[in-house]
Amino acid sequence: MFIGSIDGGGTKVLTAVMTETGQILARRQASVPTADYAAYFARCAEMLGACAEEVGMRLEKLAGVGASLPAMTDGRDRVLGSPSAGWGAFSVRPLLVPALGMGTGRVFIENDVNACAMAELRFARGGDNFIWMTVSTGIGGAVVADGRLVRGAGFCAGEIGHVKVEFEHPRLCGCGGYGCLEAQASGTAIARLAREAGLDADAKRCAELAGQNNPVARAVLAQAGRHMGRALAMTANVLNPERVYIGGGVAHSLELLLPSIREEFERGVLPQCRNVVIEQTRLGYEAALFGAAAVCLEGLGC
Ligand SMILES: [Zn+2]
Repeated sequence: MFIGSIDGGGTKVLTAVMTETGQILARRQASVPTADYAAYFARCAEMLGACAEEVGMRLEKLAGVGASLPAMTDGRDRVLGSPSAGWGAFSVRPLLVPALGMGTGRVFIENDVNACAMAELRFARGGDNFIWMTVSTGIGGAVVADGRLVRGAGFCAGEIGHVKVEFEHPRLCGCGGYGCLEAQASGTAIARLAREAGLDADAKRCAELAGQNNPVARAVLAQAGRHMGRALAMTANVLNPERVYIGGGVAHSLELLLPSIREEFERGVLPQCRNVVIEQTRLGYEAALFGAAAVCLEGLGC
């Protein structure tokens, strides 16, 4: 079986034709502006068309198409909004279905972090109870409990990035609240902390400097790590997961963050919930692309 995957990021789009076991047969990547969402999805379909052509098949012959999007969604067809992409609410199928030339019941969408968790379940190590946390420009989360993705009453479950972790000197978050994990420990927050400490470094550079034992960079990462540990402890007390998978660019610095994550986690977690493995996802850069495939396969009932 061949399926189409679209990883629709806020700055770049990845598309692929894949098998149902997650083998990538053809792949395209491009930066696509999100401002005009009709044009955005037309471009996604065009890129997937190029992948299909490369493997010598027509788009409509794909069993289905899944798209992981940087947005809250209803897990089927509707985008409910995306601050990062600048999107309001709209239906995706009327945009994608005609461009793909396939039936409405074969096109599926999902929030990108939920999609990553679904990929972890289907293609990687998974487990029945885990938290997926993406740490990049912002911080996103997804929850799998008792073997199922938790979507919530309004499809907003798992927003670990907006758990409040700082009360003494809380920072303003993109959501309008103060002291959210995202405002204290995302890649953007790490760069800001570094700048305030007199270090001209983004999150990646800060990690490099910390790796070279720069004390300022180490202190910045330790602070971000403590906030992550605090949010994870609160979440673990509610959900009792067995694992936490960390993805996103900042996940590459997990080794440097982990001591402070673990220390603060231990302080906040119940003894009965403390047995949690915190590790980097093995899905890597293409986690959300595999996620889109997982979304498609689940939608098709496979
Ligand atoms: Zn927030």
